[in-house]
Amino acid sequence: MVGALSLVFVSRCVLDVAGSSAPTVPPEKPAPSEAKETAKPAREPSETPADAAEGPSAAVEDSPEATTEAVDDSSPTAGTASPAVADGTTAQRAAANKPQREWVKHEVIPGERVADIAARYQVSPAAVLRWNKLNKKRPNLRVGQKLKVYAKRMPPPREKITYEVEPGDSWIGIARKFGVERKQLRRWNHKARKNLRPGQRLRVWVDAAPEVATGEAAGSVTTAAGFPIVPIKRGATSVGSPNRGKISRPIQLPDNEALYRISNPDHAWGTTHTFQLLQAVVANFRGRSHYQGEIVIGAISRRGGGRFRPHRSHQSGRDVDIWLPVRRGVSTRSRPKRAGDVDWDATWALIAAFIDTGKVEYVFLNYARQRQLYDAARRAGVPKAKRDRLIEYPQRSSRRQAVVRHADGHKSHIHVRLRCGEQERMCVD
Ligand SMILES: [Zn+2]
Repeated sequence: MVGALSLVFVSRCVLDVAGSSAPTVPPEKPAPSEAKETAKPAREPSETPADAAEGPSAAVEDSPEATTEAVDDSSPTAGTASPAVADGTTAQRAAANKPQREWVKHEVIPGERVADIAARYQVSPAAVLRWNKLNKKRPNLRVGQKLKVYAKRMPPPREKITYEVEPGDSWIGIARKFGVERKQLRRWNHKARKNLRPGQRLRVWVDAAPEVATGEAAGSVTTAAGFPIVPIKRGATSVGSPNRGKISRPIQLPDNEALYRISNPDHAWGTTHTFQLLQAVVANFRGRSHYQGEIVIGAISRRGGGRFRPHRSHQSGRDVDIWLPVRRGVSTRSRPKRAGDVDWDATWALIAAFIDTGKVEYVFLNYARQRQLYDAARRAGVPKAKRDRLIEYPQRSSRRQAVVRHADGHKSHIHVRLRCGEQERMCVD
């Protein structure tokens, strides 16, 4: 369940974020041919996407010799229309919302074809070829190559995760776990043998958080687990360090009754990255654990960040306190006083959902409460080696750097420290 060991951001670099203070690359104006693309969005859906069922031979390979291999994007299959590619309905909805299009950089990952890239940004394959002066018959995509895309849809950032195969895992099971297609998983790991061995490592590319296209203009989106996600305004970023920092263009965590309750909205100011991640994590956690109780979000930061007594950190919008989930029948009007009030299985599931994002620096939990968590991780089937790597217990030592570690207090809540977001250039880890 906690398969994410390492990750690297690979996907997108926003060139033109409307109203954001972040971009360092000057905005570009569309060239004439690109402007035409903007003016006539309606013609894109008529273009047939390339057949998604092409074999691995047509895909970008990650091996040295593959850099010269052609990616054949020229054999569309009549009548197939991938649902991810703009269809009439999507186009109408997009037109109604007047989405702001943006130039983005797309970094090619192994196995990716022009049609995949086009679908990801809801543009036509022909446009992707044109913007990047690629040959239709032989686009020659290389892993790591950066393509310009005038995106109609802004997908979430994509991360590379290294997944360690666990006993009983299957290709289809792992693919489902990450919400990708089995075929795609095989393509990313084309050198792996068909029979999986526990401990073997696989590469997976996943979307970091649900899509939030245009801030307030966008409707709510729904996660795979069926929970609604409230769009998060862009442009709020973490500046400096958690112990000496602030928030640029701060935003307040939106209400999302299906997922959590906010204990004090005045203390729930933060960043785009934190809130996108937080919503996605709680949604994933609820989907996996079927926990029905309330999740209460405690302190994050004050408006604008900065000193927030009695906390030492919580200054830059990437520290989140969450009350420990409680057992059925225990009140959530105040934080759980006794260890026996806590639902430790749910607590572990919540922490695991955070860790799985690869974006967690650490989780504070008093050592006196860690045995319960450790036992819950064991009940969840986490192997001992992994438990020992993730949780400080049972070898308390100041030198150990487990993800879950002791801090004074922190008996009735966890404190999650997130890493800096990809676009937070002023953020200090
Ligand atoms: Zn805290």
